[in-house]
Amino acid sequence: MQNRWKDTEARKLRGLDELVYRSLLIGADPNLVLWGGGNTSCKLMEKDFRGREVKVLRVKGSGSDLRSVQADQFPGVRLDDVLPLRDREAMTDEEIVAFLAHCLVEPGSVRPSIETLLHAFVPFRHIDHSHADFVLSLTNNTDGVKHTKAVYGEEIIWIPYQRPGFALSKQVAQEVEKNPKARGCVLEKHGLITWAATARESYLTHIEFNTRAEEYLAERARGHRVFGPPEVTPLPPTERHRCAAVLLPLLRGTLQARRRTILRFEDSDDLLEFIGSKKGPDLSRVGAATPDHLMNTKGWPLVLPPPRLRDQDGPPELEEAYEREVREIVEAFSEEYREFYEKHSRGDLPMLEDAPRVVLVRGVGMITLGPDAQAARVAADVYRHTIKIMAGAQAISSYSSMSPREAFDAEYWPLELYKLTLRPPERELSRRVALVTGAAGGIGAAIAGRLAAEGAHVVLADLDETRATRLAGEICAQSGPGRAIGLRMDVTREDEVRACVERAVLEYGGLDIVVNNAGVAHVSPVETLEKADWERCMAINATGHFLVSREAIRVLRRQQLGGSLIFVTSKNVLGPGQNFSAYSASKAAQAQLARVLALEVAEMGVRVNMLSPDAVFKDSGLWSEQLRQERARTHGIAADQIEEFYRKRNLLRAQVRPEDVADSALFLASDRSSRTTGCILTVDGGLREAFPR
Ligand code: ZN
Repeated sequence: MQNRWKDTEARKLRGLDELVYRSLLIGADPNLVLWGGGNTSCKLMEKDFRGREVKVLRVKGSGSDLRSVQADQFPGVRLDDVLPLRDREAMTDEEIVAFLAHCLVEPGSVRPSIETLLHAFVPFRHIDHSHADFVLSLTNNTDGVKHTKAVYGEEIIWIPYQRPGFALSKQVAQEVEKNPKARGCVLEKHGLITWAATARESYLTHIEFNTRAEEYLAERARGHRVFGPPEVTPLPPTERHRCAAVLLPLLRGTLQARRRTILRFEDSDDLLEFIGSKKGPDLSRVGAATPDHLMNTKGWPLVLPPPRLRDQDGPPELEEAYEREVREIVEAFSEEYREFYEKHSRGDLPMLEDAPRVVLVRGVGMITLGPDAQAARVAADVYRHTIKIMAGAQAISSYSSMSPREAFDAEYWPLELYKLTLRPPERELSRRVALVTGAAGGIGAAIAGRLAAEGAHVVLADLDETRATRLAGEICAQSGPGRAIGLRMDVTREDEVRACVERAVLEYGGLDIVVNNAGVAHVSPVETLEKADWERCMAINATGHFLVSREAIRVLRRQQLGGSLIFVTSKNVLGPGQNFSAYSASKAAQAQLARVLALEVAEMGVRVNMLSPDAVFKDSGLWSEQLRQERARTHGIAADQIEEFYRKRNLLRAQVRPEDVADSALFLASDRSSRTTGCILTVDGGLREAFPR
């Protein structure tokens, strides 16, 4: 366990700044805390709003993450208000939350952690609390007390499991007072607490206790297979990805109990070893390591046998019998979850989703689910650490978890459920995945940005991978981590299109929206048109759209969740332009492809529509300097007059911008156009010769 403390950095820091420093050190180690887990505090003298000296507890705010925590995420709580609570017999979580709101030093600051009373009652200046893997391996096994004592002797206090709250806070404080030799305390199936008079000592004690656990476990794990012998050999990486790419959409369609989800796929060696081991599947059913882990992974994962592909040429497909098996296993999971709920429910809280958050596919990898990519990632991180905790526990004894009743009370903890209600409402396209081709150009980028702003996860595909990746980064910065990726795709190359769609599926689990936008233009009268230029237009504007659509539809069929395909065609489909035959004819082919597709895929609820923009110049990759000059020549105007010429020729005298096209794309992508397919929507300012008919 790495000691990250640096005296040279810490020496300059005092009070709250020192607490922030120490907290970030703990947050930097995923073996200690993950995604919002754990908390830290210190007790300070501060001046209140009237200039009086008061004793203040600075404690991590609820929902903040120790990895990135800042000073304003440590609300101050007046200790003189809080300490008398120790005399009370009991308090509910709601009463604690309401009480603490009155004790804040800064009105309106973030809500203090639910473990605030524990930090307040334990009479030491600095307190660190983590959900450390090594310590959990010691506590979460059938001989937890024995092993904990063997490692720490009297230096640590053992607290049997109970949910965080008033009773736990009081119990810990009493035990600390009764055991003056103790330097820390272990909470069964929860984590580690250390304390000290200085920040440095509190942190170092935390690291020391973890190191001692780590060494104890490593010594006992040496030379023995903690998960038993391998039972399922992992497939080679390309095979794993091929299988996952067909399994993910099937699962996404089957698992969405009530709502769509985003899926994440991982296949690291440690995961494959656990999933393929003899004991792995049974161990996975024992339960989550702590309530905090459980909130992200649910009590147990769904386990699938190794996928079986059909023995056929062409694109991979799962065997029908395997698909049936998957559906049955998913149904059995829901059934079991419903029984779990009914057995333990007191009738006051509605059932949460009966779908798993973690799916282990033997021989292939792990799939995690969430409302967005970030939640799926958190579930994956938490489950990988759960496996580590199991490995440690198995090295010394048998992994154990909360009882089913405890697990139910953790999952249906009113305070956590209340937190869910505080989340902002989901956006129109949340939980959906969009693929946009030609995404680095003006129209493509505007559409990708618009769909992401409405909550979609977006795959930006373009020949220009650097720009696509940069735009994806901008979307993530604006809409949230993991919300977009940029990929290289040459739409004319079958292998690249296939690989790109596979990557999109591996990234997010499937597809819902496809925007066929990549395009190229060429100006020449037919008489002098080179065959190569004609073929290039056809390859990109027609064949490219066919290849992307074909791959996408295969995904949509496996998924059975409907979908929306949008083709960005051109005003030239309806009103052809002189000297523009290669462009207009290839765009017309694209439009006809869209119409035929609309006929073919309607039975699976997939809609296919077209946009017909005209003269969108801003950030356009299509409107090169050469194209501007050539079109100007065709229209008999100067090249610098071209934008003005196009603006004036439409009925509304309007300049058509990428965002106008993006708004129309949003309409066609969303359920607002749920009764529309095979339609062409003009975004051209109104052109009589290009009225659809
Ligand atoms: Zn905790």
